[in-house]
Amino acid sequence: MINPAELTILKKALDTLAEGFADLPDFESNLDTSAMERVLQDVAVRMRDNYPYHHPRYAGQMLKPPHAVARIAYMLALWINPNNHALDGGRASTALEKECIQAIGAMFGLQDPLGHLCGGGTMANLEALWVAGRLHPGKKVVASEQAHYTHGRISEVLALEFAAVPVTHAGRMDLEALEPVLAAGDVGTIVATLGTTGIGAVDPLPEILELARRFDVRVHVDTAYGGYFTLGSKLNSAARAAFDVIAEADSIVIDPHKHGLQPYGCGCILFKDSSVGTLYKHDSPATYFSSAELHLGEISLECSRPGAAAVALWATQQLFPMDVDGDFAHSLDQSLLAARAMWDRVEQSDNFKALMPPELDIVIYAVNGADAATISERASEIFERAASKNLHLALLELPIDMVRHYWPELIANRDTVRVLRSCLMKPEHLAWLDDIWQVLEATVHPLDDA
Ligand SMILES: *Cc1c(COP(=O)(O)O)cnc(C)c1O
Repeated sequence: MINPAELTILKKALDTLAEGFADLPDFESNLDTSAMERVLQDVAVRMRDNYPYHHPRYAGQMLKPPHAVARIAYMLALWINPNNHALDGGRASTALEKECIQAIGAMFGLQDPLGHLCGGGTMANLEALWVAGRLHPGKKVVASEQAHYTHGRISEVLALEFAAVPVTHAGRMDLEALEPVLAAGDVGTIVATLGTTGIGAVDPLPEILELARRFDVRVHVDTAYGGYFTLGSKLNSAARAAFDVIAEADSIVIDPHKHGLQPYGCGCILFKDSSVGTLYKHDSPATYFSSAELHLGEISLECSRPGAAAVALWATQQLFPMDVDGDFAHSLDQSLLAARAMWDRVEQSDNFKALMPPELDIVIYAVNGADAATISERASEIFERAASKNLHLALLELPIDMVRHYWPELIANRDTVRVLRSCLMKPEHLAWLDDIWQVLEATVHPLDDA
Protein backbone atom coordinates (compact mmCIF):
# COMPACT_ATOMS: atom_id res chain seq x y z
CA MET A 1 0.00 0.00 0.00
CA ILE A 2 2.83 2.39 0.82
CA ASN A 3 5.98 2.90 -1.22
CA PRO A 4 8.63 4.48 1.08
CA ALA A 5 10.16 6.24 -1.93
CA GLU A 6 7.16 8.58 -1.88
CA LEU A 7 8.22 10.00 1.47
CA THR A 8 11.80 10.50 0.31
CA ILE A 9 10.61 12.35 -2.78
CA LEU A 10 8.35 14.53 -0.64
CA LYS A 11 11.19 15.40 1.75
CA LYS A 12 13.51 16.37 -1.12
CA ALA A 13 10.85 18.53 -2.71
CA LEU A 14 10.10 20.18 0.66
CA ASP A 15 13.79 21.00 1.10
CA THR A 16 13.81 22.68 -2.31
CA LEU A 17 10.67 24.61 -1.43
CA ALA A 18 12.16 25.77 1.89
CA GLU A 19 15.31 27.06 0.14
CA GLY A 20 13.12 29.60 -1.61
CA PHE A 21 12.29 31.18 1.76
CA ALA A 22 15.76 30.90 3.28
CA ASP A 23 16.32 34.68 3.44
CA LEU A 24 13.61 35.09 6.12
CA PRO A 25 14.67 35.29 9.78
CA ASP A 26 14.63 31.88 11.46
CA PHE A 27 11.24 30.73 12.59
CA GLU A 28 10.08 27.35 13.76
CA SER A 29 6.69 26.35 15.05
CA ASN A 30 6.54 24.56 18.38
CA LEU A 31 5.22 21.06 18.00
CA ASP A 32 4.38 18.57 20.72
CA THR A 33 5.50 15.71 18.52
CA SER A 34 4.75 12.91 20.96
CA ALA A 35 1.17 14.10 21.43
CA MET A 36 0.85 14.38 17.65
CA GLU A 37 2.17 10.89 17.21
CA ARG A 38 -0.37 9.49 19.67
CA VAL A 39 -3.25 11.20 17.91
CA LEU A 40 -2.06 10.11 14.50
CA GLN A 41 -1.81 6.49 15.64
CA ASP A 42 -5.45 6.76 16.69
CA VAL A 43 -6.31 8.28 13.33
CA ALA A 44 -4.56 5.44 11.49
CA VAL A 45 -6.52 2.85 13.46
CA ARG A 46 -9.81 4.66 12.84
CA MET A 47 -9.04 4.93 9.11
CA ARG A 48 -8.77 1.15 8.81
CA ASP A 49 -12.56 1.17 8.79
CA ASN A 50 -12.74 1.63 5.01
CA TYR A 51 -13.12 -0.46 1.91
CA PRO A 52 -9.72 -1.04 0.25
CA TYR A 53 -10.20 1.60 -2.45
CA HIS A 54 -6.57 1.44 -3.52
CA HIS A 55 -6.66 -2.29 -4.34
CA PRO A 56 -7.81 -3.90 -7.64
CA ARG A 57 -10.15 -6.13 -5.58
CA TYR A 58 -12.15 -2.96 -5.02
CA ALA A 59 -14.33 -3.10 -8.15
CA GLY A 60 -17.39 -1.25 -6.96
CA GLN A 61 -18.15 2.45 -6.84
CA MET A 62 -16.57 5.18 -8.92
CA LEU A 63 -13.38 5.46 -6.91
CA LYS A 64 -9.94 5.69 -8.43
CA PRO A 65 -6.90 6.23 -6.23
CA PRO A 66 -5.01 9.47 -6.80
CA HIS A 67 -1.61 8.96 -8.39
CA ALA A 68 1.37 9.19 -6.03
CA VAL A 69 2.58 12.31 -7.83
CA ALA A 70 -0.75 14.02 -7.10
CA ARG A 71 -0.66 12.98 -3.44
CA ILE A 72 2.90 14.21 -3.00
CA ALA A 73 2.35 17.49 -4.86
CA TYR A 74 -0.77 18.14 -2.79
CA MET A 75 1.12 17.50 0.47
CA LEU A 76 4.02 19.66 -0.67
CA ALA A 77 1.63 22.52 -1.39
CA LEU A 78 0.18 22.29 2.13
CA TRP A 79 3.37 23.80 3.56
CA ILE A 80 2.34 26.96 1.67
CA ASN A 81 -1.43 26.35 1.78
CA PRO A 82 -2.18 28.68 -1.12
CA ASN A 83 -5.68 30.01 -1.74
CA ASN A 84 -6.53 30.21 -5.43
CA HIS A 85 -9.23 32.78 -4.87
CA ALA A 86 -6.81 35.60 -5.54
CA LEU A 87 -3.25 36.10 -6.69
CA ASP A 88 -2.59 37.58 -3.25
CA GLY A 89 -3.33 34.16 -1.76
CA GLY A 90 -1.63 31.93 -4.26
CA ARG A 91 0.42 33.39 -7.09
CA ALA A 92 2.27 30.26 -8.15
CA SER A 93 -0.69 27.90 -7.80
CA THR A 94 -2.95 30.32 -9.71
CA ALA A 95 -0.48 30.25 -12.60
CA LEU A 96 -0.46 26.44 -12.44
CA GLU A 97 -4.27 26.34 -12.40
CA LYS A 98 -4.46 28.53 -15.51
CA GLU A 99 -2.11 26.11 -17.30
CA CYS A 100 -4.22 23.14 -16.17
CA ILE A 101 -7.35 24.80 -17.56
CA GLN A 102 -5.66 25.46 -20.92
CA ALA A 103 -4.56 21.82 -21.10
CA ILE A 104 -8.00 20.43 -20.27
CA GLY A 105 -9.55 22.83 -22.78
CA ALA A 106 -7.06 21.69 -25.43
CA MET A 107 -7.95 18.05 -24.70
CA PHE A 108 -11.51 18.89 -25.75
CA GLY A 109 -10.38 21.05 -28.68
CA LEU A 110 -11.19 24.39 -26.99
CA GLN A 111 -8.91 27.38 -27.48
CA ASP A 112 -8.71 29.76 -24.51
CA PRO A 113 -11.81 28.66 -22.63
CA LEU A 114 -12.89 30.54 -19.53
CA GLY A 115 -12.71 28.16 -16.62
CA HIS A 116 -11.29 27.12 -13.30
CA LEU A 117 -11.09 24.27 -10.84
CA CYS A 118 -13.60 23.88 -8.04
CA GLY A 119 -14.70 21.51 -5.32
CA GLY A 120 -16.13 18.87 -7.65
CA GLY A 121 -18.67 18.07 -10.32
CA THR A 122 -21.63 19.33 -8.32
CA MET A 123 -20.07 22.75 -7.80
CA ALA A 124 -18.95 22.86 -11.45
CA ASN A 125 -22.45 21.97 -12.69
CA LEU A 126 -23.91 24.59 -10.38
CA GLU A 127 -21.78 27.24 -12.08
CA ALA A 128 -22.72 25.99 -15.54
CA LEU A 129 -26.45 26.07 -14.75
CA TRP A 130 -26.14 29.40 -12.95
CA VAL A 131 -24.65 30.94 -16.10
CA ALA A 132 -27.26 29.13 -18.21
CA GLY A 133 -30.05 30.56 -16.05
CA ARG A 134 -28.64 34.08 -16.29
CA LEU A 135 -28.56 33.82 -20.09
CA HIS A 136 -31.97 32.12 -20.41
CA PRO A 137 -33.90 33.50 -17.43
CA GLY A 138 -37.16 31.74 -16.61
CA LYS A 139 -36.47 28.85 -18.95
CA LYS A 140 -36.21 25.18 -18.09
CA VAL A 141 -33.21 22.95 -17.64
CA VAL A 142 -33.61 19.43 -19.04
CA ALA A 143 -31.37 16.41 -18.51
CA SER A 144 -31.88 12.70 -19.03
CA GLU A 145 -33.45 10.40 -16.44
CA GLN A 146 -29.99 8.86 -16.02
CA ALA A 147 -28.25 12.24 -15.55
CA HIS A 148 -26.62 12.90 -12.19
CA TYR A 149 -29.24 13.38 -9.47
CA THR A 150 -27.80 16.76 -8.51
CA HIS A 151 -29.00 18.50 -11.71
CA GLY A 152 -32.57 18.51 -10.41
CA ARG A 153 -31.47 19.81 -7.05
CA ILE A 154 -29.10 22.41 -8.49
CA SER A 155 -32.00 23.69 -10.61
CA GLU A 156 -34.05 23.96 -7.41
CA VAL A 157 -31.30 26.01 -5.74
CA LEU A 158 -31.22 28.30 -8.78
CA ALA A 159 -35.04 28.48 -8.91
CA LEU A 160 -35.01 27.11 -12.44
CA GLU A 161 -37.61 24.64 -13.57
CA PHE A 162 -36.19 21.18 -14.27
CA ALA A 163 -37.51 18.29 -16.36
CA ALA A 164 -36.11 14.79 -16.93
CA VAL A 165 -36.04 13.42 -20.48
CA PRO A 166 -36.61 9.65 -20.87
CA VAL A 167 -33.73 7.41 -21.87
CA THR A 168 -33.39 4.51 -24.28
CA HIS A 169 -32.84 0.98 -22.97
CA ALA A 170 -29.11 1.66 -23.21
CA GLY A 171 -29.47 4.63 -20.85
CA ARG A 172 -28.87 7.39 -23.43
CA MET A 173 -31.09 10.45 -23.73
CA ASP A 174 -33.98 9.55 -26.04
CA LEU A 175 -33.94 12.01 -28.96
CA GLU A 176 -37.51 11.25 -29.92
CA ALA A 177 -38.58 12.25 -26.42
CA LEU A 178 -36.33 15.32 -26.41
CA GLU A 179 -37.66 16.92 -29.58
CA PRO A 180 -41.27 17.54 -28.42
CA VAL A 181 -39.92 18.86 -25.10
CA LEU A 182 -37.86 21.44 -27.00
CA ALA A 183 -40.72 22.21 -29.37
CA ALA A 184 -42.77 23.44 -26.40
CA GLY A 185 -40.44 26.47 -26.44
CA ASP A 186 -39.76 26.82 -22.72
CA VAL A 187 -36.38 25.06 -22.48
CA GLY A 188 -33.26 27.17 -22.00
CA THR A 189 -30.62 24.49 -21.48
CA ILE A 190 -30.06 20.83 -22.26
CA VAL A 191 -27.63 18.93 -20.07
CA ALA A 192 -26.00 16.17 -22.10
CA THR A 193 -24.23 13.54 -20.00
CA LEU A 194 -21.20 11.93 -21.62
CA GLY A 195 -20.77 8.99 -19.31
CA THR A 196 -23.67 8.67 -16.89
CA THR A 197 -22.68 7.96 -13.31
CA GLY A 198 -24.84 4.84 -13.01
CA ILE A 199 -24.07 2.89 -16.18
CA GLY A 200 -21.60 5.00 -18.13
CA ALA A 201 -23.97 5.73 -21.03
CA VAL A 202 -22.99 8.45 -23.49
CA ASP A 203 -25.78 10.80 -24.64
CA PRO A 204 -25.92 11.38 -28.43
CA LEU A 205 -24.30 14.81 -28.40
CA PRO A 206 -24.12 15.44 -32.20
CA GLU A 207 -27.91 15.08 -32.50
CA ILE A 208 -28.52 16.99 -29.27
CA LEU A 209 -26.43 19.91 -30.59
CA GLU A 210 -28.37 19.89 -33.85
CA LEU A 211 -31.72 20.03 -32.02
CA ALA A 212 -30.38 22.71 -29.69
CA ARG A 213 -29.43 24.92 -32.64
CA ARG A 214 -32.83 24.43 -34.19
CA PHE A 215 -34.61 25.48 -31.00
CA ASP A 216 -32.02 28.07 -29.84
CA VAL A 217 -31.19 26.26 -26.63
CA ARG A 218 -27.91 26.11 -24.68
CA VAL A 219 -26.04 22.83 -24.32
CA HIS A 220 -24.11 21.97 -21.19
CA VAL A 221 -22.00 18.80 -21.29
CA ASP A 222 -21.67 17.00 -17.97
CA THR A 223 -18.74 14.69 -18.48
CA ALA A 224 -17.60 14.72 -14.86
CA TYR A 225 -16.88 11.00 -14.96
CA GLY A 226 -16.40 10.32 -18.67
CA GLY A 227 -14.46 13.35 -19.95
CA TYR A 228 -10.96 11.92 -20.07
CA PHE A 229 -12.16 9.05 -22.27
CA THR A 230 -11.99 11.47 -25.18
CA LEU A 231 -8.26 10.57 -25.19
CA GLY A 232 -9.01 6.86 -25.58
CA SER A 233 -8.84 4.82 -28.75
CA LYS A 234 -11.40 2.13 -27.92
CA LEU A 235 -14.70 4.04 -27.81
CA ASN A 236 -17.63 2.68 -29.81
CA SER A 237 -18.47 4.84 -32.83
CA ALA A 238 -21.48 6.60 -31.26
CA ALA A 239 -19.50 7.54 -28.14
CA ARG A 240 -16.55 8.64 -30.29
CA ALA A 241 -18.85 10.90 -32.30
CA ALA A 242 -20.20 12.44 -29.06
CA PHE A 243 -16.77 13.10 -27.55
CA ASP A 244 -15.57 14.57 -30.85
CA VAL A 245 -18.07 17.46 -30.74
CA ILE A 246 -17.72 18.44 -27.07
CA ALA A 247 -16.02 21.69 -28.12
CA GLU A 248 -19.29 22.81 -29.74
CA ALA A 249 -21.11 22.78 -26.38
CA ASP A 250 -21.49 26.02 -24.40
CA SER A 251 -20.04 24.62 -21.19
CA ILE A 252 -18.28 21.48 -20.00
CA VAL A 253 -17.80 19.87 -16.61
CA ILE A 254 -15.07 17.32 -15.93
CA ASP A 255 -13.89 15.92 -12.60
CA PRO A 256 -10.13 15.40 -12.35
CA HIS A 257 -10.94 13.68 -9.03
CA LYS A 258 -12.87 10.97 -10.88
CA HIS A 259 -10.65 9.74 -13.72
CA GLY A 260 -7.87 12.32 -13.59
CA LEU A 261 -5.86 10.69 -10.76
CA GLN A 262 -6.58 13.51 -8.29
CA PRO A 263 -7.55 13.47 -4.63
CA TYR A 264 -11.08 14.69 -3.87
CA GLY A 265 -11.82 18.35 -4.16
CA CYS A 266 -10.97 18.74 -7.84
CA GLY A 267 -13.74 19.49 -10.33
CA CYS A 268 -13.48 21.72 -13.38
CA ILE A 269 -15.84 24.00 -15.30
CA LEU A 270 -15.09 25.35 -18.78
CA PHE A 271 -17.07 27.87 -20.82
CA LYS A 272 -16.54 28.12 -24.56
CA ASP A 273 -17.46 31.83 -24.65
CA SER A 274 -15.20 33.69 -22.24
CA SER A 275 -17.52 36.71 -22.20
CA VAL A 276 -19.70 34.89 -19.63
CA GLY A 277 -16.98 35.98 -17.21
CA THR A 278 -18.76 39.36 -16.94
CA LEU A 279 -21.69 37.61 -15.21
CA TYR A 280 -19.44 36.88 -12.24
CA LYS A 281 -18.68 40.55 -11.64
CA HIS A 282 -18.75 41.44 -7.96
CA ASP A 283 -17.30 44.26 -5.94
CA SER A 284 -15.91 42.70 -2.83
CA PRO A 285 -13.65 45.46 -1.54
CA ALA A 286 -11.33 43.11 0.31
CA THR A 287 -9.85 40.66 -2.04
CA TYR A 288 -7.91 41.81 -5.08
CA PHE A 289 -5.01 44.15 -4.69
CA SER A 290 -1.87 42.69 -6.06
CA SER A 291 -2.36 42.75 -9.81
CA ALA A 292 -4.51 43.69 -12.74
CA GLU A 293 -4.05 40.14 -14.02
CA LEU A 294 -7.00 37.76 -13.70
CA HIS A 295 -7.65 36.53 -10.18
CA LEU A 296 -9.53 33.25 -10.46
CA GLY A 297 -11.93 34.44 -7.77
CA GLU A 298 -13.23 36.94 -10.29
CA ILE A 299 -14.66 34.13 -12.39
CA SER A 300 -15.68 31.67 -9.70
CA LEU A 301 -18.74 31.29 -7.47
CA GLU A 302 -16.66 29.94 -4.61
CA CYS A 303 -14.37 32.33 -2.76
CA SER A 304 -11.51 30.44 -1.05
CA ARG A 305 -10.27 27.38 -2.91
CA PRO A 306 -7.33 25.04 -2.30
CA GLY A 307 -4.36 26.00 -4.47
CA ALA A 308 -3.03 22.56 -3.52
CA ALA A 309 -5.62 20.98 -5.84
CA ALA A 310 -4.16 22.91 -8.78
CA VAL A 311 -0.61 22.02 -7.76
CA ALA A 312 -1.51 18.32 -7.65
CA LEU A 313 -3.29 18.42 -11.00
CA TRP A 314 -0.48 20.34 -12.67
CA ALA A 315 2.13 17.86 -11.41
CA THR A 316 0.01 14.98 -12.70
CA GLN A 317 -0.42 16.62 -16.09
CA GLN A 318 3.37 17.01 -16.33
CA LEU A 319 3.98 13.34 -15.60
CA PHE A 320 1.03 12.17 -17.70
CA PRO A 321 0.43 14.66 -20.53
CA MET A 322 -3.06 14.37 -21.95
CA ASP A 323 -1.95 12.99 -25.31
CA VAL A 324 -3.99 10.53 -27.34
CA ASP A 325 -1.00 8.19 -27.58
CA GLY A 326 0.32 8.69 -24.04
CA ASP A 327 0.37 6.39 -21.00
CA PHE A 328 -2.64 8.10 -19.47
CA ALA A 329 -4.78 7.52 -22.59
CA HIS A 330 -3.53 3.95 -22.70
CA SER A 331 -4.58 3.34 -19.09
CA LEU A 332 -8.10 4.57 -19.89
CA ASP A 333 -8.23 2.11 -22.78
CA GLN A 334 -7.23 -0.67 -20.37
CA SER A 335 -10.12 0.20 -18.07
CA LEU A 336 -12.58 0.20 -20.94
CA LEU A 337 -11.25 -3.14 -22.17
CA ALA A 338 -11.57 -4.54 -18.64
CA ALA A 339 -15.26 -3.57 -18.57
CA ARG A 340 -15.85 -5.18 -21.97
CA ALA A 341 -13.98 -8.35 -20.95
CA MET A 342 -16.07 -8.60 -17.80
CA TRP A 343 -19.26 -8.11 -19.81
CA ASP A 344 -18.19 -10.98 -22.13
CA ARG A 345 -17.73 -13.27 -19.15
CA VAL A 346 -21.10 -12.30 -17.75
CA GLU A 347 -22.68 -13.08 -21.09
CA GLN A 348 -21.18 -16.57 -21.12
CA SER A 349 -22.09 -17.32 -17.51
CA ASP A 350 -25.22 -19.20 -16.41
CA ASN A 351 -25.15 -17.42 -13.08
CA PHE A 352 -25.38 -13.87 -14.37
CA LYS A 353 -27.18 -11.97 -17.12
CA ALA A 354 -25.50 -9.37 -19.29
CA LEU A 355 -27.46 -6.15 -19.81
CA MET A 356 -26.30 -3.14 -21.88
CA PRO A 357 -22.71 -3.48 -23.13
CA PRO A 358 -20.39 -0.99 -21.41
CA GLU A 359 -19.68 2.24 -23.27
CA LEU A 360 -16.94 3.32 -20.87
CA ASP A 361 -15.51 1.37 -17.91
CA ILE A 362 -18.66 0.67 -15.89
CA VAL A 363 -20.16 -2.80 -16.29
CA ILE A 364 -23.70 -3.66 -15.16
CA TYR A 365 -24.77 -7.27 -14.57
CA ALA A 366 -27.81 -8.97 -13.12
CA VAL A 367 -27.91 -12.19 -11.13
CA ASN A 368 -29.84 -14.95 -12.88
CA GLY A 369 -33.30 -15.90 -11.59
CA ALA A 370 -36.96 -15.98 -12.63
CA ASP A 371 -38.30 -12.66 -11.40
CA ALA A 372 -37.27 -9.12 -10.55
CA ALA A 373 -37.77 -9.45 -6.80
CA THR A 374 -35.70 -12.64 -6.50
CA ILE A 375 -32.80 -11.38 -8.58
CA SER A 376 -32.78 -8.09 -6.68
CA GLU A 377 -32.43 -9.96 -3.39
CA ARG A 378 -29.76 -12.16 -4.88
CA ALA A 379 -27.80 -9.12 -6.03
CA SER A 380 -27.65 -7.90 -2.43
CA GLU A 381 -26.59 -11.37 -1.22
CA ILE A 382 -23.81 -11.58 -3.79
CA PHE A 383 -22.69 -8.09 -2.87
CA GLU A 384 -22.35 -9.16 0.81
CA ARG A 385 -20.71 -12.49 0.08
CA ALA A 386 -18.21 -11.01 -2.32
CA ALA A 387 -17.31 -8.38 0.29
CA SER A 388 -16.66 -11.14 2.84
CA LYS A 389 -14.17 -12.60 0.33
CA ASN A 390 -12.52 -9.23 -0.15
CA LEU A 391 -14.09 -8.47 -3.50
CA HIS A 392 -15.96 -5.19 -3.36
CA LEU A 393 -18.78 -4.49 -5.81
CA ALA A 394 -21.57 -1.91 -6.04
CA LEU A 395 -25.35 -2.13 -6.46
CA LEU A 396 -27.64 -0.13 -8.72
CA GLU A 397 -31.42 0.04 -9.16
CA LEU A 398 -32.52 0.13 -12.81
CA PRO A 399 -36.05 0.68 -14.15
CA ILE A 400 -37.65 -2.68 -14.97
CA ASP A 401 -38.25 -1.78 -18.63
CA MET A 402 -34.58 -1.10 -19.22
CA VAL A 403 -33.65 -4.52 -17.84
CA ARG A 404 -36.43 -6.36 -19.69
CA HIS A 405 -35.20 -5.02 -23.00
CA TYR A 406 -32.18 -7.30 -22.54
CA TRP A 407 -34.08 -10.00 -20.69
CA PRO A 408 -37.68 -10.24 -21.92
CA GLU A 409 -38.54 -13.42 -19.96
CA LEU A 410 -37.82 -11.77 -16.60
CA ILE A 411 -41.05 -11.61 -14.56
CA ALA A 412 -41.79 -8.00 -13.61
CA ASN A 413 -42.96 -8.20 -10.00
CA ARG A 414 -41.04 -5.03 -9.05
CA ASP A 415 -40.74 -1.55 -10.69
CA THR A 416 -36.98 -1.57 -10.49
CA VAL A 417 -34.35 -4.27 -10.57
CA ARG A 418 -31.30 -4.28 -8.33
CA VAL A 419 -28.23 -5.21 -10.33
CA LEU A 420 -24.52 -5.41 -9.64
CA ARG A 421 -22.20 -2.72 -10.89
CA SER A 422 -18.44 -2.56 -11.18
CA CYS A 423 -16.46 0.54 -12.10
CA LEU A 424 -13.23 -0.94 -13.44
CA MET A 425 -11.40 2.37 -13.22
CA LYS A 426 -7.98 1.13 -12.25
CA PRO A 427 -5.54 0.29 -15.02
CA GLU A 428 -4.75 -2.93 -13.07
CA HIS A 429 -8.32 -4.18 -13.37
CA LEU A 430 -7.72 -5.81 -16.75
CA ALA A 431 -4.90 -7.95 -15.37
CA TRP A 432 -6.96 -8.78 -12.28
CA LEU A 433 -10.05 -9.86 -14.17
CA ASP A 434 -9.43 -13.61 -13.81
CA ASP A 435 -9.05 -13.20 -10.09
CA ILE A 436 -12.14 -10.97 -9.78
CA TRP A 437 -14.23 -13.32 -11.88
CA GLN A 438 -13.18 -16.39 -9.91
CA VAL A 439 -14.23 -14.85 -6.61
CA LEU A 440 -17.48 -13.62 -8.15
CA GLU A 441 -18.48 -17.02 -9.57
CA ALA A 442 -17.64 -18.67 -6.26
CA THR A 443 -20.13 -16.41 -4.45
CA VAL A 444 -22.99 -17.83 -6.53
CA HIS A 445 -22.81 -21.50 -5.64
CA PRO A 446 -24.19 -21.21 -2.13
CA LEU A 447 -27.28 -19.63 -3.78
CA ASP A 448 -27.87 -22.84 -5.76
CA ASP A 449 -27.75 -24.90 -2.58
CA ALA A 450 -30.26 -22.72 -0.81
C1 LIG B 1 -19.75 12.39 -10.13
C2 LIG B 1 -20.63 13.12 -11.06
C3 LIG B 1 -21.21 14.35 -10.71
C4 LIG B 1 -21.03 14.94 -9.34
O1 LIG B 1 -19.70 15.26 -9.12
P1 LIG B 1 -19.06 15.39 -7.66
O2 LIG B 1 -17.63 15.59 -7.97
O3 LIG B 1 -19.35 14.09 -6.96
O4 LIG B 1 -19.69 16.53 -6.98
C5 LIG B 1 -21.98 15.00 -11.64
N1 LIG B 1 -22.19 14.47 -12.85
C6 LIG B 1 -21.67 13.28 -13.22
C7 LIG B 1 -21.94 12.74 -14.59
C8 LIG B 1 -20.87 12.56 -12.34
O5 LIG B 1 -20.36 11.38 -12.70
